[in-house]
Amino acid sequence: MAEESVRLNLRSVRAGWAALVLACAGAAHAAPAAPWCERLAPRLPTVSADACRQSAVVPSGAKSTKGFPILERDIAPRKGVDQPRVLLLGGIHGDEPSASALVFRWLKEMDTPGAQGLHWKVAPLLNPDGLLAAKPQRVNARGVDLNRNFPTPGWQREAPRYWAKVTRSDPRRFPGKNPLSEPESKWVHDTIERFRPDLIVSVHAPFGVLDFDGEAEPPRKFGRLSYRKVGVYPGSLGNYSGQHKQVPVITIELPHAQAMPSDAEIQRIWQDMLDWIRQNVN
Ligand SMILES: [Zn+2]
Repeated sequence: MAEESVRLNLRSVRAGWAALVLACAGAAHAAPAAPWCERLAPRLPTVSADACRQSAVVPSGAKSTKGFPILERDIAPRKGVDQPRVLLLGGIHGDEPSASALVFRWLKEMDTPGAQGLHWKVAPLLNPDGLLAAKPQRVNARGVDLNRNFPTPGWQREAPRYWAKVTRSDPRRFPGKNPLSEPESKWVHDTIERFRPDLIVSVHAPFGVLDFDGEAEPPRKFGRLSYRKVGVYPGSLGNYSGQHKQVPVITIELPHAQAMPSDAEIQRIWQDMLDWIRQNVN
C-alpha cells in the first residue's frame, strides 16, 4: 500500500513537471500580446492577426493623429559591429494596403542569412489612420498627404503652389499647412535623424515600377518591377531624403494596391533588393 502511494505520488510529480515544461514551451512560442494586430489584419491582404503578432513589431512611442501606435522593429547585428543601416517603410499612403502587407511579409525574412549583415529598422504602416478609415484613404486623419509633408527646400513656396496648380487642389494630395505638421511624417523625419540610415526603402502601389532618388546607380529590376523615374514632388520623401539629405531612397511601387504579388514574386523582389544593397550600400 505504502509503495503504491509513493509510486502514485511520483507519477503525479512527473505529470506536474511535464505540464510545467509544456506550459513553458508554449509560452516561448506564443506570440506576444499585440492588440493592434486584431484591427490591422482584416485590412491587410495575406497577413493574419497571428502573422502580424509573429512579425514582432512594437509601438515606437510615436502615435498617429488618432492615437494608433506607429509600429516598428529594430533588427540589429551583433553588438559593436557597424553595418549598413536600412530603413524599410510601408504604407505612408493608407489606401495601398499591399505595401504594408509586403513589409509585414518581409519581416519574416529578417532572420535568414540574406538579411543578416544589415541593421534594419522596419515600420510597415506609417499611416494607420488612413488604412483604418471607414473607407481606406491615401491621406492621414487630418487630410494630409504625408508623402508631400517633408521639409524639402522651398517647401513653403513650392508645395502649396504645386498642389493648387498641378494637382488642381486634389484633396488626396494636400501637402499640409507646414512641413512636418503631422505626427506620422515627423516620426519618419526624426527616425532618419536618429537612425542615420544608409538607405531608405519605401513601399507603395499601384504603379508597378521602381523609382530611385540618390547618387548611386538606380536599381534596374527587382522581380518584374523595372526602374522608371516617376517624378520629383515638393515635400516627398524621395525628394527630401534622396535629393537633399544624401540618403538614397528606393521607392517600390507594387502593381496593385489591394492584391499581393505571388509568393514567388515577393521572394524575387526581396532577393534582388538584397543583391542591390550588397553591391551599392556599405
Ligand atoms: Zn503611395
